[in-house]
Parts: sequence; C-alpha cells; structure tokens
Amino acid sequence: MSSADGCTFCSIIDDRDGVETLLESESYLCILDAYPVNEGHALVIPKTHVRYLEDVCDTQMFEFLQKALAKVNAIYEPDATTIGVNNGTDAGQTIPTSTGTLSRDTKGT
Ligand SMILES: [Zn+2]
Repeated sequence: MSSADGCTFCSIIDDRDGVETLLESESYLCILDAYPVNEGHALVIPKTHVRYLEDVCDTQMFEFLQKALAKVNAIYEPDATTIGVNNGTDAGQTIPTSTGTLSRDTKGT
C-alpha cells in the first residue's frame, strides 16, 4: 500500500489504535469519524493514498461505500443518510485524501 507522509488517513491505515472500524476490505476501510457530526458518522478511506475521487480508478470504492452504508444502517437505524465527498481543498477537504463520508439523518433532528 502506498501512503503519503503526514496524511492523517494514511496514518490511520497504518495504526488503528483507538479507531473504531465498521468494515474493511482489501482496498478500503470504514471507520467512525473521530469528530462526528452525529452518532454513526463514518468515513470510507482508501488504503492507498488518493488525493481526488477521480484518481480512484475502479468501481470498488462505490461498491464498498454501499456495503458500509448497509453496516451504518444496521447499527444506527437512521431515517436517512447524507453521503458526501469533499473533493479538493476548496470543497472543504481538510485532509488531502479522497474519502466518502456517511452521516446519519433523523426526522426532525
Ligand atoms: Zn492518505
């Protein structure tokens, strides 16, 4: 696996101490966000450092995202979910790795 020096997500891939893993495959990891916006806020992280979503050259990320969503739904039973990708610094990407974000939405909250 390739990683980038100083990348928080690459560090998590290498050392998961204190990280709650929800799902893992050969290429991706789904963890609970350390700074959740709500209960069940999860991140899908490529195990290989990828700066932009367009640099992911396969469909596995979407397939893994669907499985991760099913896992989040089974555990947290949200009324709905928000799925997003901050694709670049100007789009709110604070860590330079393309990640999928799953956040839980509930009626009236
Ligand atoms: Zn990285």
